[in-house]
Amino acid sequence: VIVEVLAVGTELLLGHTVNTNAATIGTKLADAGVDLQYSSVIGDDHDRMVAAIRLALSRADAIVITGGLGPTQDDITREAISSATDRPLRFSDEYAARLKRWWESRGREMPESNLKQAEYPEGAVLLDNPKGTAPALQLETDGAVIFALPGVPAELEVLLDLYVVPVLAERAGEGVVVSRVIRTYGESESRIGELLSDLYVAKGNPSMAFLATAAEIKIRLTAHASTSDDAERLIAPLESAVKERLGRLVFGTDAETIEEIVFGLARERGWTLATAESATGGMVASRLTKVPGSSQVFRGAIVAYHEDIKLMNLGVPAGIIETHGVVSEPVAIAMADGAAAALGADVAISVTGSAGPDPQEQPVGTMVIAVHTPEQTMARTLTLPGDRERVRTYTTTGALHLARLAMSGEWWSGQPRRGRWV
Ligand code: ATP
Ligand code: MG
Repeated sequence: VIVEVLAVGTELLLGHTVNTNAATIGTKLADAGVDLQYSSVIGDDHDRMVAAIRLALSRADAIVITGGLGPTQDDITREAISSATDRPLRFSDEYAARLKRWWESRGREMPESNLKQAEYPEGAVLLDNPKGTAPALQLETDGAVIFALPGVPAELEVLLDLYVVPVLAERAGEGVVVSRVIRTYGESESRIGELLSDLYVAKGNPSMAFLATAAEIKIRLTAHASTSDDAERLIAPLESAVKERLGRLVFGTDAETIEEIVFGLARERGWTLATAESATGGMVASRLTKVPGSSQVFRGAIVAYHEDIKLMNLGVPAGIIETHGVVSEPVAIAMADGAAAALGADVAISVTGSAGPDPQEQPVGTMVIAVHTPEQTMARTLTLPGDRERVRTYTTTGALHLARLAMSGEWWSGQPRRGRWV
């Protein structure tokens, strides 16, 4: 089945509300092996909605509409479906009575306008909504099935699971879709694309896609098959080929995050962790403490923002700061060693840098990261583009990756190139 999603609401067009429902629907349908091919946003306008529904009817087997089922004047999804399919609106006395009881049970009188929620295009089935008052609708037309669901994300999610996914998964047949995400760090998206150019398949089975997020590049492999075992078999050779080609750039698979990997490495080795952060102000510690169970390995952090704290709490020798400046590899190394000693940790990650907007000693975007391990302490200088927040975020991710490399007994190889990671 070909599925089309229509998200309804002028607030979505204006950007006042982020269209998270489209992402929820996309994820759930993909997990169920259902082929979503179109997804669009329409304002609260009757004629445009009718046109969008008619277009969807012409090219899809199933339409999932979200939003516009409420009781106010701008909620017109029922009317639009009725016009687009030439089915008059009917009124469900039974549902109206149920709405009245719902209000009464809360000791309130129901506004007359709520009766609108008992209307439905002829032939539609009203689907009970366990999380709200507006029922969802399911309408079978000649060529397609239309689902209309409320816009409230929590209601939408429940109704998708209850009604939409089971119906569409069944109609889609036995097919399953399996995706594998290979996560890399250290090279640009374009460079990864070049490295994989001969393995790249846009439309094959399996297919390949690239996704870039905060310094990490993901490669998604997707396969369709009748069972998940068959899909896995299709993905396996391509997955190994990609991993072999990218080598140490690959740091994880699927949902594994870099902080989980660092946590896992520490636990495996029986090492404890700490951070000493200047420019990132605790962001590295914050990421590490996101991992459930991080108390098993995480000792603590010193946000050594002012030079005095670097001297007093981390024991950075004043002479090193005088000779090299605060934003320097010797200072980062002294910070990491100092944090390991002060906090009693086996591994300490330190950050010092010039995040901007005003340069501090070094040009904006010059960030120094050091990692202390029981074996050695190493530092790396990065030159990062972008504004203060971007520099801080990328540095945080970078610090976690350098910790991963140091803890695995690796470090960058070859010529250290500024702004490159491994
Ligand atoms: P209600 O009965 O609550 O009025 P409804 O079907 O009329 O439901 P809307 O009025 O369109 O839904 O939206 C209700 C709430 O859900 C609003 O807070 C809106 O911002 C949010 N919402 C609507 N559509 C989306 C969407 N596509 N993604 C995320 N949130 C959404
Ligand atoms: Mg509404």
